[in-house]
Amino acid sequence: MPITTPHLDSLAVHAGREDLEALGVHALPLDLSSTNPLPDIERGGASYEAMATGGRPDPDGGHVYQRLWNPTVARFESALARLEQAQTSVAYASGMAAMTAALIASTSFSGKRHVVAVRPLYGGTDHLLASGLLGVEVTFCTEHEVAASVRADTALVVLETPANPTLDLVDIAGVVAAAGDVPVLVDNTFATPILQNPLELGAAMSLHSATKYIGGHGDVVGGVIACDEGTAARLRQVRAVTGGLLHPLGAYLLHRGLATLPTRIRAQQAGAVEIASWLRTLPCVERVHFPEDDDRGLAGKQMSGPGAMISIGLRGGYEAAARLTSSVRLFTHAVSLGGVDSLVQHPAGLTHRPVQAEAKPSANIVRLSIGLESPEDLIADLDRALSAGSSTGSA
Ligand SMILES: *Cc1c(COP(=O)(O)O)cnc(C)c1O
Repeated sequence: MPITTPHLDSLAVHAGREDLEALGVHALPLDLSSTNPLPDIERGGASYEAMATGGRPDPDGGHVYQRLWNPTVARFESALARLEQAQTSVAYASGMAAMTAALIASTSFSGKRHVVAVRPLYGGTDHLLASGLLGVEVTFCTEHEVAASVRADTALVVLETPANPTLDLVDIAGVVAAAGDVPVLVDNTFATPILQNPLELGAAMSLHSATKYIGGHGDVVGGVIACDEGTAARLRQVRAVTGGLLHPLGAYLLHRGLATLPTRIRAQQAGAVEIASWLRTLPCVERVHFPEDDDRGLAGKQMSGPGAMISIGLRGGYEAAARLTSSVRLFTHAVSLGGVDSLVQHPAGLTHRPVQAEAKPSANIVRLSIGLESPEDLIADLDRALSAGSSTGSA
């Protein structure tokens, strides 16, 4: 029986586990089979054909081959879809594999080659779009230029909110209206399905780098797109053909992590709120970027909270950023985000290194991913690191 509660906390624990009782197990099974026994050529072949064209397996024909279908991955997909209020979702080997599949599916099936991309974006996404690797023509713009940028041959509008690394918020419903008939993909990685559901605001796809909050423990790389069945069929077909599939062990860990996602997000967010308000009092911090401060109030409108990512602009420029990142002890100096342990990184030098000069983040910006440690301990670590060898420190 599918769970019917509207409460996210209960859904997060139970969704995607509907078949476990019939299987006689309580914990999620991990199915590693690369291939599966076939009943006969005809039934196996029919199932193969259904899946290779983006459909679901034929119950009589089986799963055939892991690149086409895997039950552990399918359980994670159905759980994630419930949290996103979506019909379904399609999981990939990484967030970038998901983004690549979305671009290929949107352009190939529509016969249109143009994409509108609202900056700022994650460095890897910006790089993929700007590189021309996929043969896609891209117009980069601000959210206010979307209507003017959309053309007759536009296949997709891409946006990210909160955006990386400035944590600027983009008005999802506003961009959907400006895009008209063109589908909109929202990179929902920073907000998670707990704080924001882009499909409810009219987006066609909600993409996650599951590597971040959904995994939450820094030990899985994965990606997933929540969408309707029609879109999912195209996305699955691209996955089956190009092979960017999520490994079942990754799906198992991601599904296991979903159970604590609402609790982790609330606790990490509470810590971030406390740390952001302390950072605002520091003379060495020129600007705190945190979605709470969005002047259109979008943090309370399209999101149910600001999340747990903070960026700070330091008065001491690149030197101060380099000092901070190499002086922290409880924070780890590392890229990525969203895990139970706190990370700090320098976007201009690392995650946004391949981004074109005009879209590169300022060199004085440092990005903090707030984990589950005591906010008091994290503040003490930042306080010490910001004061290290500096006359402009907070001490
Ligand atoms: C990390 C990230 C990606 C890319 O995901 P991978 O899992 O690293 O491939 C895409 N978008 C955002 C916002 C990210 O933070």
